[in-house]
Amino acid sequence: MIRFDNVSVRYPTGTLGLDGIDLEIPDGQFVVVVGLSGAGKSTLVRTINGLVPTTSGTLQVDDRVVSGASKRQLRRLRAQVGMIFQSFNLVTRTSVMNNVLVGRLHATSWWRSLLGLWKPADRELAFEALERVGIVDKAWVRASQLSGGQQQRVAIARALAQEPKVILADEPVASLDPPTANQVMRDLERINRELGITTVVNLHFLDLARRYGQRIIGMRQGRIVFDGTADEADDAV
Ligand code: ADP
Ligand code: ADP
Repeated sequence: MIRFDNVSVRYPTGTLGLDGIDLEIPDGQFVVVVGLSGAGKSTLVRTINGLVPTTSGTLQVDDRVVSGASKRQLRRLRAQVGMIFQSFNLVTRTSVMNNVLVGRLHATSWWRSLLGLWKPADRELAFEALERVGIVDKAWVRASQLSGGQQQRVAIARALAQEPKVILADEPVASLDPPTANQVMRDLERINRELGITTVVNLHFLDLARRYGQRIIGMRQGRIVFDGTADEADDAV
């Protein structure tokens, strides 16, 4: 479970990124966070994997208290949280396989990864992840040769290879055309259904959110202004 108790985030610039968030996300839920640019969506997901430190309140992910955690504790947490970004964040000059193996870095020594001496179990997990997103045939292709939708699937596979407890996707479809965006959302939803990984997806547009979110959280100015089902969101807007 992810649990926010009165969590605020103030950036060094003085901007309030989160303003007293109370939120519980049970294990296995598929949550979509919507809001305009600057509403705090990104800050919300980045606090969950410890990328943005909380200023006050308590944040727990599973049994770990993230607020005030040590660097070592945060490393452990991040190993369990798969991140997906708008810009894919792949190393495009190398193969799809090498990109997915990045998801296994936390489980291997630095010298093994430098020498490419991956354990068979790590390669197996990478292959399984690529199969799950339907691009195992692209394993040995350079990432730069894939379309945007395919690159985002590689990023999803990289997250899955981590064997994560939580997947966080920060505007994962913002740079994709609508049909591709729908495909990627369907992939994320199917993976949530098949593997039961708690998933939090930030989206800019309410129409996509209504189509895919079991639970929709609306944000404005660092606060939660809506928390309900897609049908309830219809009535609220
Ligand atoms: P969203 O993801 O909904 O666009 P963000 O979480 O990125 O919203 O931003 C919430 C608020 O925090 C905005 O006012 C934004 O300008 C501010 N903010 C985000 N990141 C930083 C940062 N690194 N430093 C200072 N202010 C930031
Ligand atoms: P998929 O083919 O798995 O559905 P997409 O929906 O992302 O993946 O692909 C969109 C289209 O872009 C596909 O028809 C694909 O063949 C094409 N495409 C493939 N590689 C590139 C590329 N490097 N640049 C632009 N389009 C590409």
